[in-house]
Amino acid sequence: MLKTIQSVTEMQQCADELRRQGKRIAFVPTMGFLHEGHLSLMRVGRRIADELVVSIFVNPAQFGPGEDFETYPRDMDGDLDLCRQEMVDIVFMPSQSDLYPNTYETTVRLDSLPNHLCGISRPVFFTGVATVVTKLFNMVKPHAAVFGEKDYQQLLVIRQMVQDLNLDVEIIGSPLFREPDGLAMSSRNNYLTPQQRPAALSLYRSVCKARELVQSGISDSAQIISEAQKIICAYPENEIDYLSICDMQTLDKVETIDRPVLMALAVTVGTVRLIDNSILEPGR
Ligand code: AMP
Repeated sequence: MLKTIQSVTEMQQCADELRRQGKRIAFVPTMGFLHEGHLSLMRVGRRIADELVVSIFVNPAQFGPGEDFETYPRDMDGDLDLCRQEMVDIVFMPSQSDLYPNTYETTVRLDSLPNHLCGISRPVFFTGVATVVTKLFNMVKPHAAVFGEKDYQQLLVIRQMVQDLNLDVEIIGSPLFREPDGLAMSSRNNYLTPQQRPAALSLYRSVCKARELVQSGISDSAQIISEAQKIICAYPENEIDYLSICDMQTLDKVETIDRPVLMALAVTVGTVRLIDNSILEPGR
């Protein structure tokens, strides 16, 4: 039976009780409007733990002014059905006022990792994420938490934060899950019109092209970025926020691909901001 919890105190008491019983708790934090990408994370959590907790909370602290906090898609009934189907034990859906009361004043901020990729155009994003994930860890008290590699920079930020703050939670990365046509699954895909779909797909096509070029022996990042840009800019509705080839740990730019590196990109398709990424591995 799926249990839903709204109160922070009740979540903490429930986590304490599960730990007393010797249960291993896996946690998947989400903003809801669940899709197969989220479900793939839940399946990982289900495999490694006795109790699977999923949180659904659209976190205002990670949206900047003018971003889509108000319009972010929400479907609580549909989400609960999917959680039942995935045999989730607890869905934790705290209220905004419980997480951020008027008296709230603390944030968790990283010095360096957010100064790359998404952090440049979304300056409050990673502080918002690091803060809410810390708080959620203190409520759900998980042994392990699963995050998607779709949000690769976010995964690095969480790993760094857990290490720096000595949080006793194992962080597990789970592969990027795609639609059958290759589009990276995202709750924001819901905003795309059918006419925008080919433009949105150009992110994946550019990633595939980059992989192919690197496999064929091309190691000059500038050349690969230029080819990838051509694919994306063929659609007038696309505006590139960033398209970067960078170190997998530090996210510093890499000029010559002489080891596995990360290609990461963010593109606004019409008004919809999409991200994608892939590891590029030099051919042998
Ligand atoms: P969100 O609800 O967008 O905040 O995402 C919650 C979690 O699901 C994060 O760890 C995301 O990285 C992960 N996630 C979202 N989309 C995907 C996807 N297409 N593949 C894998 N993980 C995903």
